[in-house]
Amino acid sequence: MEIILQPVGRIDSDILNILQTRIISIFGCPVGIDKSVPVPDEAFSTLRERYLSDVFLDKLKTLNKKGHKLLGVTEVELFTRGLNFVFGHADTSSGVAIISLHLLRQEYYGLPPDNDLFVERFVKEAIHELGHTFGMGHCSDSLCIMHFSNSLPDTDFKKPLFCSRCQPKLML
Ligand SMILES: [Zn+2]
Ligand SMILES: [Zn+2]
Repeated sequence: MEIILQPVGRIDSDILNILQTRIISIFGCPVGIDKSVPVPDEAFSTLRERYLSDVFLDKLKTLNKKGHKLLGVTEVELFTRGLNFVFGHADTSSGVAIISLHLLRQEYYGLPPDNDLFVERFVKEAIHELGHTFGMGHCSDSLCIMHFSNSLPDTDFKKPLFCSRCQPKLML
């Protein structure tokens, strides 16, 4: 099993390198970084002024020819049907997922920058969405990384780790 990080649009290489290191330590498998692909313009909704995450997942599926777990990373803001915004979205059956960095920086909310907090947030979103690609559902333990984040306080509260019930589901 291999996990591939797929930048969608330009992503700072420091972010990708941190993700690579942290994901290796959690999932214990090789993690590659692919060359960036463009943001799919057709995903943009002029009504919502955001991008439909499902289009990103479709695009990632076409790129995932070798059957790896493919995690897209983008800076643009995402939504999906029934949810006004999403931090990330996964397709369990095809092993692809996307995370958006858009809502994770303190500056977005008019607060002073906090890079350590930003790092923890995108690492958590990445582990959570990858957990889905390994077939995991949401967990009721609010400290578990597979707990659903309705808002950033939920994300900040949980730990970047699987709980003892979820961990055994990580069958590599
Ligand atoms: Zn989830
Ligand atoms: Zn759990």
